[in-house]
Amino acid sequence: MRTLVFALLYLTISSAANAQKTDEPLVIYSERKPFLLEPLVKRYQLETGIKIQILTDQASVLLERLAAEGEYTKADIFMTVDAGSLVQAAKRGVLAKINSPTLNAAIPANLRDPENRWFGLSLRARTMIYNPAKIDPALIQNYADLAKPALKGKLCLRSSKKVYNQSLIAMQLASLGAARTEAMVRGWVTNLAAPAFADDTLLVNAVASGQCAVGVVNTYYFGRVQKDNPSVAAKLLFADQKGQGTHVNISGAGVIAASKQKAEAQAFLEWLAGTEAQAIFAEVNLEYPVNAKAKLDPVVAAWGSFKRDPRNIQIAGDRQAEAVKIMDRAGWR
Ligand code: FE
Repeated sequence: MRTLVFALLYLTISSAANAQKTDEPLVIYSERKPFLLEPLVKRYQLETGIKIQILTDQASVLLERLAAEGEYTKADIFMTVDAGSLVQAAKRGVLAKINSPTLNAAIPANLRDPENRWFGLSLRARTMIYNPAKIDPALIQNYADLAKPALKGKLCLRSSKKVYNQSLIAMQLASLGAARTEAMVRGWVTNLAAPAFADDTLLVNAVASGQCAVGVVNTYYFGRVQKDNPSVAAKLLFADQKGQGTHVNISGAGVIAASKQKAEAQAFLEWLAGTEAQAIFAEVNLEYPVNAKAKLDPVVAAWGSFKRDPRNIQIAGDRQAEAVKIMDRAGWR
């Protein structure tokens, strides 16, 4: 069952020149892991004197907490590792509309809410990795190819419970329609080499070891394995390059509607979208910056450029519930 992990991180530097007006820290309710946020929070605190407190849990748990706390919440920012959870938060009215020319200039329009309630801060592709000794990459150019009978016993997937897969299928729904998407997902399940994996890193290792010929993962999980072992026997393949483009998703954030420090929260998000923070984001987790002016990590740059699905990632949130039903019906556990 679900494990609740509350990680509290207090960083206090009270002597900085540019300290907050009040003693209240900025509070982030974050699905993003503390070790990925700490370098950013520390840098921001050094530069501004602003204290930041992070409460970590699953997005769904944080969202329920925000709804229960209502106007009495201490949260200023909601941060997630998937667009779908941000869309849900916006629909439930917990995020404020932010009119920020800085955020609008730094972040491409398809990676933020058309109504300015959430903003992508880093980007990852969810695409194929394969073992060249086990499969010809010509067979696996598109997500739909993974349903081909020729791939029987060769495919590995992470659990359908993970929101990354739910968003991937939601975006496929929007391009293929319900019937073709369900047929594709059923084909994937038929082709499985092993029961669904609990996380992407296990999946990368299973492909590298030859247990599976091909899998679908977020690029940074492959990047981490490749950074530790540059000769790992798995290769990245960007899906749908002749069609819709590879599915990309965001880690992102919004300002809480009931926040007492909306201006300070907005300033932090604007800083996160700037080139300095974006380079840290990219390096710490081997993601793509959303700000095109920020540098890529060399491991990520070596994968080359690729065609990204240009549609607004909001679709992932809008169609996630439908995607989950299809995955359930198809027997993807
Ligand atoms: Fe992740």
